[in-house]
Amino acid sequence: MKEFFNELDNRVIQRGLCTACGTCAGVCPAGAIDWVELDGEPQPQLTGTCTNCGICTAVCPGADVDLPALERYVFGRVRPESIPDLGYYREARVAWSTDPAIRKQGASGGLVTALLVYALEQGLIDCALLAGFRRDEPYRTEAWLAAGKEDILAAAQSKYACVPVNTLLTRAVSKGYRRLAVVGLPCQIHGLRKLQVLGEPPLLVKSIVLMVGLFCASQFYYEGTRHMLVEHLGLMAQDEIAAMSYRGGDWPGHLVVELKDGRRLTLDRHRYMYHHLMPAYKRDRCEMCVDWSAELADISVGDYWDPQARPGKAAGTSSCLVRTAAGEAILAGALRGKYIETTALEAPRLAAGVGFELKKHAAAFRLKQRRRFGWPVPDYRRDTDHNPFTRELHLAPETKTGK
Ligand SMILES: Cc1cc2nc3c(=O)[nH]c(=O)nc-3n(C[C@H](O)[C@H](O)[C@H](O)COP(=O)(O)OP(=O)(O)OC[C@H]3O[C@@H](n4cnc5c(N)ncnc54)[C@H](O)[C@@H]3O)c2cc1C
Ligand code: SF4
Ligand code: SF4
Repeated sequence: MKEFFNELDNRVIQRGLCTACGTCAGVCPAGAIDWVELDGEPQPQLTGTCTNCGICTAVCPGADVDLPALERYVFGRVRPESIPDLGYYREARVAWSTDPAIRKQGASGGLVTALLVYALEQGLIDCALLAGFRRDEPYRTEAWLAAGKEDILAAAQSKYACVPVNTLLTRAVSKGYRRLAVVGLPCQIHGLRKLQVLGEPPLLVKSIVLMVGLFCASQFYYEGTRHMLVEHLGLMAQDEIAAMSYRGGDWPGHLVVELKDGRRLTLDRHRYMYHHLMPAYKRDRCEMCVDWSAELADISVGDYWDPQARPGKAAGTSSCLVRTAAGEAILAGALRGKYIETTALEAPRLAAGVGFELKKHAAAFRLKQRRRFGWPVPDYRRDTDHNPFTRELHLAPETKTGK
């Protein structure tokens, strides 16, 4: 029997709506869903016997994310269409790790890593599901189950290629872990919240104690990374690579590749992001995604682009939106324990980011266009087409006036 997996395959995967969040594989009680790699991209496939429980289809955020219903589940209320669209939050902060090594190792201010280290050391979590690099091919990403500080530190920094983090859910519970933190992109948090609403399998649902969401403008096809390695760094053979990071070196971090012969190659982040080496390979499903700031997470973390900070000169900082009691508790505890420092953040400033524009205006409009042509689209059950929010561009005065 494979009816339910067939439904997932027909409704989501074969229509290009899979976000590769990993939730279906991570919740399947029969362990029947695994991954195949097509064009370098992970895709779920049935490798075992589907028992027809239907959990995978129920939790999948690929085609259907009832944002208002999930918002009501998490916050007990649903925001009107007309408010600034960063979702519900209790507090907005700029934050960074007090440990200079973690701060430097992190993508922004190392906040996520610092929170996880705090939670682990205080016994609030016993493992975290994270994104790392494969040991055998250290330029390809994979989901990591980190139960020790060392692995949490090694998983720091953003991975700009798909990582189906949620795929490790059942594995974590079957190893005996009962307090899981998951760090995920907004679509991964959607899958987790759908799982909570479903309430099945109960032990797994109960075991997820913290959801740290990352702001996400887009995820990228691995092909983008491959092009940068081959064309821009001249690496014809990837097996020369000993280690790689997308945000290595000084803040804001660059594509840094360490070779087995000891050489170190760097591709400037400004060049690969703003000259579109990477954004050209934006995943198609991401073009249709309307959640930028991980609106349903316990705590959401993104880059903080301090207008005063000069690349290469300043240490990074993270921005964060504290959304739930669990998010509030971990931030307050880490602050009390001196794992992090924070300052106030005017949240609407975040909407000046490119990601906000891409998600809240461009993707919303794109969804409308695709619907008009009858193309497959995810249903977020929220009419975001007319989002009235106007972002304030924090440009230097001379840029604003065109002088
Ligand atoms: C694909 C992608 C797009 C992003 N887009 C934006 C954006 O538009 N605007 C913005 O402000 N910020 C964005 N971010 C978030 C930002 O890059 C940082 O991840 C965030 O600020 C946290 O930094 P930090 O130093 O606090 O975290 P760190 O201490 O560096 O820890 C980061 C944690 O995130 C996990 N992680 C990294 N990559 C992934 C991944 N692909 N999937 C799941 N978990 C992962 C790591 O395992 C690590 O635990 C994006 C991140 C990613 C991965
Ligand atoms: S649950 Fe996630 S990985 Fe599985 S089909 Fe849906 S979107 Fe894809
Ligand atoms: S843009 Fe949306 S669908 Fe794509 S990875 Fe980010 S959260 Fe997931």
